[in-house]
Amino acid sequence: MAEEILCDVIIVGGGPGGLCAGMYSSRANRDTICLEKYMPGGQIAITGEVEDYPGFEHIQGAELAMKFTDHAKKFGLKIEMEEVEKVYCEGDYRVAKCASGKIYKGKAMIVSTGGSPTYLKVPGEKEYSGRGVSYCAICDGAFFKEKVIAVVGGGDAAVEEAGYLTKFASKVYIIHRRDKLRAQKIIQKRAFDNKKLGFVWDSVVESINGDGTRVTDLTLKNVKTNETSKLDVSAVFVYIGFKPNTSMLPDDMKRDEGGYLVTNFHMETSIEGIYACGDVREQLVRQVTNAVGDGTTASVAAEKRLEMLEDKAAQRI
Ligand code: NAP
Repeated sequence: MAEEILCDVIIVGGGPGGLCAGMYSSRANRDTICLEKYMPGGQIAITGEVEDYPGFEHIQGAELAMKFTDHAKKFGLKIEMEEVEKVYCEGDYRVAKCASGKIYKGKAMIVSTGGSPTYLKVPGEKEYSGRGVSYCAICDGAFFKEKVIAVVGGGDAAVEEAGYLTKFASKVYIIHRRDKLRAQKIIQKRAFDNKKLGFVWDSVVESINGDGTRVTDLTLKNVKTNETSKLDVSAVFVYIGFKPNTSMLPDDMKRDEGGYLVTNFHMETSIEGIYACGDVREQLVRQVTNAVGDGTTASVAAEKRLEMLEDKAAQRI
């Protein structure tokens, strides 16, 4: 028989949103368990410098993740290294079945599983991640003032973010594997009108090169001629798709066309008692600041559900 662990609130995923929700629920004296498959902190833990989290003019992502974790633990959040395979409902319980065989049951659940960018999977990408390779223009663009940078991709995200990056960079090259952008026409027009944007068509990145500490250039291949060339850049922003991590969630939980979870303003998903926060949720921007805001709301909403269930149980006595 599988080991069952009961608690008040289960948090699936230990990114900033989940840790913040965990901090609030634990502080409200609720027995709260956060299930995280690697280390807490989510994407912020693998981000280089962060300079847009209020109160911290400069902080390393890993240090901020550690601070979030320690702060939540101080109020009693329990963090278990578990990979959640399946989420389902059992009466008032919201259940997480883990790869370890353990089953966690809580009266409320907060999903903070984030998402993953699609990676280029070329030499140098991992090595220079956070040192010139980025998946977030808002997070890292300001580090490359007056530098030449590249953006890979031809969709809405790549073209919009490339435009945003021209606020900082002296030149931004969009590297696209075809000779036509996929982005919406209005976004394309804005891009073609922007003198700081250049386009490298029919090309893919073969490798991201550096001097050991930072990115210095890219090796590109023209897919029509097979010719290779070098492009000197200080950074490369990869926007070839982003996928929310929702595979463990019920199929009938409502998602938008991009696969992101749809929530109401209580952060409640289409399944009562399951809340969502951060990057996994449908929203305008995906930043640490709004993930923690979502986590706060989700935790307060979960608390209201616990009180409602307690009132219901008291009336039955
Ligand atoms: P996307 O629309 O799927 O575009 C991905 C782009 O990356 C495509 O141009 C694709 O090339 C290219 N690509 C894919 N794999 C590649 C690889 N291995 N190497 C090189 N290039 C590769 O993704 P997205 O831009 O992230 O957008 C995701 C969703 O969010 C879309 O529905 C989009 O409309 C929406 N979105 C909307 C807005 C907005 O409305 N303002 C902003 C951002 C995102 P091909 O074109 O050749 O396939």
